[in-house]
Amino acid sequence: MSASSSALGMLGVNPNLDSDPSANAAIKPETAGDKARSALDAAIWDRERYSRQVLFPGVGEAGQQLLGHAHVAIVGVGATGAATAGLLARAGVGHLTLIDRDFVEPSNLQRQTLFDEEDALAALPKAEAARRHLARINSSIHVTAHIADLAPQNAPQLLAADLVLDCTDNFETRYLINDLCVRDGRPWIYAAAVGAYAATMNILPKPAGEAQPGEAEADTARRQYEYRGPTADPTACLACIFPSAPSGNLETCDTAGILSTAVNLAASIQATEALKYLTHQPHLMRRSLVSFDLWTPNAQGTLARSEISTGNPRTGCEVCDQRNFRALSGEQRPHITLCGRNSVQIHQHQHPIDLAALKSRLERLEEVRNARANGLLLRFTYSIYTLTVFPDGRALVQGTTDVGLARSLYARFLGS
Ligand SMILES: [Zn+2]
Repeated sequence: MSASSSALGMLGVNPNLDSDPSANAAIKPETAGDKARSALDAAIWDRERYSRQVLFPGVGEAGQQLLGHAHVAIVGVGATGAATAGLLARAGVGHLTLIDRDFVEPSNLQRQTLFDEEDALAALPKAEAARRHLARINSSIHVTAHIADLAPQNAPQLLAADLVLDCTDNFETRYLINDLCVRDGRPWIYAAAVGAYAATMNILPKPAGEAQPGEAEADTARRQYEYRGPTADPTACLACIFPSAPSGNLETCDTAGILSTAVNLAASIQATEALKYLTHQPHLMRRSLVSFDLWTPNAQGTLARSEISTGNPRTGCEVCDQRNFRALSGEQRPHITLCGRNSVQIHQHQHPIDLAALKSRLERLEEVRNARANGLLLRFTYSIYTLTVFPDGRALVQGTTDVGLARSLYARFLGS
């Protein structure tokens, strides 16, 4: 492992998932002639593949070329992320980075359109399962999978792309994305779906390049990214609209369930706005927070829809005006209770774990049942709890929302 890849490993990033391990099984030497022919085949194939999209005047040949050179980071590959990743892969976005901390379960299959029953049976990490499916949809793009929890330490590396798409289910991660993207002048797109409700908002921060007072040289260097197209006037950021996370009666997938169609609407709008940006047309991007209730029409019998303008940043906003990046500094980062799963994630333990050694240790314990590993994660059951452990030391404890209990189970089986 190289120095840089071991550094990524310490950040909870698995650097080894951007090529299919099984692809190494039967490689035969390739001649220069083979290479030239296969490049030509790929070009002809791609011309066919994208022909209908190129016909659309908003994209055209030039837009298609730009898409091929674009890099999008997708945070969360659950329902929204799977739909958005599928759309962008088919549209020919050249490089997708997928970041997800979770694994595929049977209850995901109703709406997480990239996954199938085999993924759920194998409890494959979502990022890797999605990468494998996307490779079968479009082999001419590059997909990188990171089985990781987005955290202040790894966010600058993982989100180094032209555009960041929020496909998460929690505001803690969204504030982290907002901090990083506002700091670095990188656009991102919020998307959310619960019940029959879908919402999305484009965040276009002040572009990087304008030096900020007191900013260290290293920060200026980190703000560099590849997008070299035109920019639009800044919009409001997430913290302009939601200075703190909505709470109280906020419904979650837990309480309200979710319709696959609402997810796909949010993903569709998000992906379309992404295509505008990546084809260098940010002036066409919506400057609003738009939401829909797909189930219950309003009194006039029309689609229940609301749209509020986000065209201007809010004076005094802690993030985009005062540039106080609390989420990025990692202040008060709590354990996370996951949506819809009655579970707690333990993520402060960033120490690598040898899953094979842990498995054989657990198999000697009478109280542990069903210890099984698939190379990317290890799962086992104790009493009514199921623990899922990842190689970076992160764990999901299912069967409780009690953080103290989850922590003690973690310490008991994995050490503190
Ligand atoms: Zn703001």
